[in-house]
Formats: sequence, structure tokens, C-alpha cells
Amino acid sequence: MGNLTNPTYVKKILDRFDFSFRKKYGQNFLIDDNILTEIIDSADITKDDTVLEIGPGIGTLTEELCKNAGQVIAVEIDSNLIPILEDTLFNYSNITIVNNDIIKVDIDKLTEEYNNGERFKVVANLPYYITSPIIMELLERRLPIESITLMVQKEVAERMTACPGTRDYGSLSLAVQYYTSPEIICTVSPNCFMPKPKVDSSVIKLIVNEEPPYYVKDEELLFHIIRASFNQRRKTLANGLSNYPKLNCSKEEIKEAIEMSGFRPDVRGETLTLEDFILLSNNVSTFTEK
Ligand code: SAM
Repeated sequence: MGNLTNPTYVKKILDRFDFSFRKKYGQNFLIDDNILTEIIDSADITKDDTVLEIGPGIGTLTEELCKNAGQVIAVEIDSNLIPILEDTLFNYSNITIVNNDIIKVDIDKLTEEYNNGERFKVVANLPYYITSPIIMELLERRLPIESITLMVQKEVAERMTACPGTRDYGSLSLAVQYYTSPEIICTVSPNCFMPKPKVDSSVIKLIVNEEPPYYVKDEELLFHIIRASFNQRRKTLANGLSNYPKLNCSKEEIKEAIEMSGFRPDVRGETLTLEDFILLSNNVSTFTEK
């Protein structure tokens, strides 16, 4: 590993560039070699891979990615970090640094330009303030992604892998488990970052499914139903769904679809598996198709 996990060295660089941490960008830089190795090993990067890194910071993870991958595209929002990255990654010719907000970047266009639209891997120590929107953007757009290896807040990793009937189970669990097979790699203490965040973190790997796990008639409807079920967690599924404006069917039709799916009339969404939600949405679609 290089020097970028050494706190004294990092402080020197930050002083040299007169850099101040910006809380609003979720800047907690990784300073732990073991965790860096865990991320790189679990991401399973080879010289055949193109990697998209979101939020390279001062280039700690980026440098290891450059050593292992064919090419690396790193998107960083904070323009104050760009001269630092140009300095710390000076020795690598396989890096492209893009100064932009990842939410505003046309990732399709970017990977088309640098990787001919071929499948790529995503690796990131994500800014925690926009973790879920970034993950959903990567998954819902069906970008040609092979895997996504991320450092996220521990609670978010637990929500992504949660099972039905648990407190953490919700729309994020179902979306992530629909598009990917998630696996938590390790838990990471606040001491592994500069400055220290207030929460524990986890490294999680999402292997993107090439095909959805079950046949879905109408994907948009499926996710409306999932959102409606968890918007009003305390209500029965029938009530939760009938109050949701985007579902274009009557309460009677919803009750009928619940019965057709073989669920009790007072079933709650939080007890249903992904397969159950798909069965229900396929049955609801017989009414919305009319
Ligand atoms: N990868 C570095 C590391 O591991 O030390 C930095 C990780 S730090 C948790 C998150 C990084 O994401 C910061 O560099 C921050 O400036 C950047 N960032 C925050 N919001 C962003 C956005 N919307 N688009 C791109 N980068 C962003």
C-alpha cells in the first residue's frame, strides 16, 4: 500500500494544498491499510476491468485501483480535491478524473466513451449523505455494471441485506435484492477514517444480476407497490395500497389481487418476500392493464 493511509502524510498533503474538509460532501478519508486491502480484494479487480470510482477524495482507494485495474474513471464533486488527485496519482496513466457531481454525470455516455459500453465495476467509499440515491441511480438505469463494492454506513448495509419481518426490511432491501445479490464483507470502525465519522461503516459487495430473479410483468408497478407498502408500514397491505395515488385500481381490485396471491386479507407488506411482491404485482397488473 502507498502512503495515503498514513495520517501524518495525509495531513502534510492537505496542508500543502491548504485543503479544508467539507462536511456537506461527506468527506471522511480512509486511513486504514487492512480495510483498503479488504475493499480491493473483495472487488476482485483485474487488468481486464474498467472501474468507476465515486468520490476519490485524495486518491487513497484510487491509487490501489490504478495498480490493479485496466483503467479507472474517478468522479469527484469537490474541485479543491482535483489538484491533490493530479499530484497523488501523477504516476498513473490509466486514470481519468472527472470533476462533477455523480448524480449529474451521464454514466452511460462516460462508460460508452471510455469502455465502449462494456460491463464495468463500481468501487466507492460513498459520501453517506447520498448513498441511497446513488445506489438506486446505478441500479435502476440498468447500466452495464458487473459489481458494486461500497463502503456505506453500517445501518444502510444492514437495510440492503435485511430479510422480511425485520426492522431493517424495506424498499431499499427489496430494490437491492431485486437487482443484485448483496453480501456484507466487513464492519469498519470510525477510527479507520480521517476525520472520524460518528457511525460505524460496512463494506458491502453487490453482484448485479444479469436477469431479474423472477418474471415481472410490470417493473414500475412492482416498485410502486413496494413503496406504497412501506410508506404506511402500520397499515394493512390492502389499506396501504389503496391510499397510494400512483396505483390505478380500486380497493376492491387490490383486495382481490391479494386474495389471488394467496395472502391473508390483513397481511402486512413487511412480511412479504421479494417473490411475494412480484406475485402480487403480477396479479395487480391484471387490473391496471385494462
Ligand atoms: N475515496 C476516498 C477515501 O476512501 O478516502 C474519499 C471518500 S469520502 C467518504 C467521499 C468522497 O466523495 C469525498 O471525496 C467527497 O468530496 C466525494 N463526493 C461527495 N459527494 C459527491 C458527489 N455527489 N459526486 C461525486 N463525489 C462526491
